[in-house]
Amino acid sequence: RAKDLGGGIFHTYEPQLHVEAEERRVMEIALRRAQSNGELHLAYQPVVASETGAVEGFEALLRWTNPQLGNVPPDKFIPLAEQARLIGTIGEWVLRTACREAAHWPPHVRVAVNVSFEQLHNRNFAKMVSSVLAETGLPPQRLELEVTESVFMNEAPHAIAVLKELLALGIKLSLDDFGTGYSSLSYLSRTKFSTIKIDRSFVRGASNNTPENVAIIRAVVALAESLDMSTTAEGVENEDELAMVRRLGCRKVQGYLFGRPMNATDARALATGKMRSAAA
Ligand code: C2E
Ligand code: MG
Ligand code: MG
Ligand code: MG
Repeated sequence: RAKDLGGGIFHTYEPQLHVEAEERRVMEIALRRAQSNGELHLAYQPVVASETGAVEGFEALLRWTNPQLGNVPPDKFIPLAEQARLIGTIGEWVLRTACREAAHWPPHVRVAVNVSFEQLHNRNFAKMVSSVLAETGLPPQRLELEVTESVFMNEAPHAIAVLKELLALGIKLSLDDFGTGYSSLSYLSRTKFSTIKIDRSFVRGASNNTPENVAIIRAVVALAESLDMSTTAEGVENEDELAMVRRLGCRKVQGYLFGRPMNATDARALATGKMRSAAA
């Protein structure tokens, strides 16, 4: 039995598990210092009107480049930041940086910032957002916070109360990755979202023309319209996908066709019309 061998059991019997745990440990230590070491930065991806290609806003996306680990993808380090309780401080940095940058854009251009469920556990979250807005001078209606359906899992009354406080500040809320999470829709009637973002897994199949994806997108658009919400199609990569989400009535689109996540300088040029969006 492995147990009898003492200390080295993971080395001997579960080398893969051990490597992953060790990788996570190394990454967590590095992540703790990433912010103060200046290893974090934001990329901005345009969100455009599906009919005109006009830039309506940008989504701020966190990037981490570590000298040893290289570019760590957010899908890897964000869950780690959540588990290690680092997402609060990192998220505040993201918000402040994004709002400060957006204050340089024309007044009709919004910034969207992703917020993890864990951040909404903080009783002072709305207060923090409010002081970041005051400090950066960004009007609340130009800030959109993106949350996922997971916020409504397991009846999280506190998180929902925080969303209400945010709405009271005049901030917009959008529902990210819609269709991939929790399936009860009752929360839609209790929290006022401005936009539903249709997950790219539904858009992705669009070029293959699957009737299922068409039906799902059509239904989400109808649901959004009847609740007075707008829709954004995520992950639009080609003209076929654009044509299809347009035909189905998605008001906004986001994806590589219109622009990859870009640095602040390029985003500022695009926002002020000094650079054209790829497909505009
Ligand atoms: P998300 O919020 O759904 O962000 C959209 C993701 O789709 C981004 O990946 C973006 O680069 C990618 N994307 C956009 N257009 C296309 C396309 O046409 N094709 C494909 N294949 N992908 C496209 P990214 O930047 O790797 O971010 C992944 C996820 O990490 C985000 O998903 C979000 O959940 C999370 N995330 C990123 N930044 C933050 C942050 O500051 N805070 C929190 N809490 N989460 C963040
Ligand atoms: Mg998002
Ligand atoms: Mg998304
Ligand atoms: Mg996502």
